[in-house]
Amino acid sequence: MKNRPTGARNPRWNPARSVSSHGYLKERVGVGHPLADSKGWAYVHALVWAASGRPMPKEGETIHHVSAEKSDNRIENLALIPRAEHSRLHAIERRRRSDGRFAPEQAA
Ligand SMILES: [Zn+2]
Repeated sequence: MKNRPTGARNPRWNPARSVSSHGYLKERVGVGHPLADSKGWAYVHALVWAASGRPMPKEGETIHHVSAEKSDNRIENLALIPRAEHSRLHAIERRRRSDGRFAPEQAA
Protein backbone atom coordinates (compact mmCIF):
# COMPACT_ATOMS: atom_id res chain seq x y z
CA MET A 1 0.00 0.00 0.00
CA LYS A 2 2.55 2.59 -0.97
CA ASN A 3 1.65 5.91 -2.59
CA ARG A 4 -1.54 6.07 -0.56
CA PRO A 5 -2.46 9.72 0.05
CA THR A 6 -2.07 10.65 3.70
CA GLY A 7 -2.81 13.71 5.78
CA ALA A 8 -3.76 16.75 3.76
CA ARG A 9 -3.45 14.79 0.51
CA ASN A 10 -6.13 12.35 1.60
CA PRO A 11 -9.50 13.67 0.35
CA ARG A 12 -11.25 12.36 3.47
CA TRP A 13 -9.28 14.83 5.58
CA ASN A 14 -10.43 17.84 3.67
CA PRO A 15 -14.08 18.69 3.01
CA ALA A 16 -12.93 20.85 0.07
CA ARG A 17 -12.06 17.66 -1.82
CA SER A 18 -14.21 14.87 -3.18
CA VAL A 19 -14.02 11.92 -5.54
CA SER A 20 -16.03 11.98 -8.76
CA SER A 21 -18.19 9.05 -9.85
CA HIS A 22 -15.38 8.01 -12.20
CA GLY A 23 -12.77 7.97 -9.43
CA TYR A 24 -11.09 11.29 -10.19
CA LEU A 25 -10.32 13.68 -7.33
CA LYS A 26 -12.06 17.05 -7.38
CA GLU A 27 -11.34 20.19 -5.41
CA ARG A 28 -13.66 23.03 -4.48
CA VAL A 29 -12.38 26.10 -6.31
CA GLY A 30 -15.52 28.25 -6.57
CA VAL A 31 -17.77 28.84 -9.55
CA GLY A 32 -15.71 31.77 -10.81
CA HIS A 33 -12.69 29.54 -11.44
CA PRO A 34 -11.89 28.90 -15.14
CA LEU A 35 -11.66 25.13 -14.56
CA ALA A 36 -14.73 24.87 -12.31
CA ASP A 37 -17.86 22.93 -13.17
CA SER A 38 -21.30 24.45 -12.56
CA LYS A 39 -21.06 23.61 -8.83
CA GLY A 40 -17.64 25.19 -8.34
CA TRP A 41 -15.53 22.01 -8.37
CA ALA A 42 -12.53 21.32 -10.58
CA TYR A 43 -10.58 18.14 -11.32
CA VAL A 44 -7.34 18.08 -9.35
CA HIS A 45 -5.44 16.71 -12.36
CA ALA A 46 -6.65 19.68 -14.45
CA LEU A 47 -5.52 22.10 -11.71
CA VAL A 48 -2.11 20.42 -11.49
CA TRP A 49 -1.80 20.49 -15.27
CA ALA A 50 -2.74 24.19 -15.44
CA ALA A 51 -0.32 25.05 -12.62
CA SER A 52 2.51 23.39 -14.56
CA GLY A 53 2.10 25.96 -17.32
CA ARG A 54 1.54 23.31 -19.98
CA PRO A 55 -0.98 24.07 -22.75
CA MET A 56 -4.51 23.12 -21.68
CA PRO A 57 -6.40 20.36 -23.54
CA LYS A 58 -8.04 21.56 -26.72
CA GLU A 59 -11.19 20.17 -28.29
CA GLY A 60 -10.63 16.44 -28.74
CA GLU A 61 -7.83 16.23 -26.18
CA THR A 62 -7.84 15.18 -22.55
CA ILE A 63 -5.51 14.68 -19.58
CA HIS A 64 -4.73 11.05 -18.83
CA HIS A 65 -3.29 9.38 -15.72
CA VAL A 66 -0.32 7.46 -17.14
CA SER A 67 -0.14 4.89 -14.30
CA ALA A 68 -3.96 4.43 -14.41
CA GLU A 69 -3.91 5.48 -10.73
CA LYS A 70 -6.51 8.26 -10.76
CA SER A 71 -5.53 9.54 -7.32
CA ASP A 72 -1.93 10.05 -8.44
CA ASN A 73 -2.12 13.64 -9.66
CA ARG A 74 1.60 14.33 -9.76
CA ILE A 75 2.47 16.12 -12.99
CA GLU A 76 4.76 13.25 -14.03
CA ASN A 77 1.75 10.92 -13.97
CA LEU A 78 -0.28 13.14 -16.30
CA ALA A 79 -0.21 13.29 -20.10
CA LEU A 80 -2.15 15.26 -22.69
CA ILE A 81 -3.49 12.81 -25.28
CA PRO A 82 -6.21 12.71 -27.97
CA ARG A 83 -9.62 11.61 -26.64
CA ALA A 84 -9.76 8.70 -29.10
CA GLU A 85 -6.45 7.42 -27.76
CA HIS A 86 -7.75 7.95 -24.21
CA SER A 87 -10.85 5.82 -24.84
CA ARG A 88 -8.66 3.11 -26.32
CA LEU A 89 -6.29 3.11 -23.33
CA HIS A 90 -9.16 2.88 -20.86
CA ALA A 91 -10.85 0.11 -22.82
CA ILE A 92 -7.60 -1.88 -22.58
CA GLU A 93 -7.41 -1.12 -18.87
CA ARG A 94 -11.00 -2.28 -18.31
CA ARG A 95 -10.39 -5.50 -20.19
CA ARG A 96 -7.28 -6.15 -18.11
CA ARG A 97 -9.19 -5.56 -14.87
CA SER A 98 -12.07 -7.80 -15.85
CA ASP A 99 -9.76 -10.67 -16.86
CA GLY A 100 -10.85 -10.48 -20.47
CA ARG A 101 -14.52 -10.76 -19.62
CA PHE A 102 -16.90 -8.20 -21.06
CA ALA A 103 -16.96 -4.96 -19.07
CA PRO A 104 -19.75 -2.45 -19.66
CA GLU A 105 -18.58 0.69 -21.39
CA GLN A 106 -18.10 3.56 -18.96
CA ALA A 107 -17.14 7.16 -19.49
CA ALA A 108 -13.44 7.75 -18.88
ZN1 LIG B 1 -7.30 8.46 -18.44
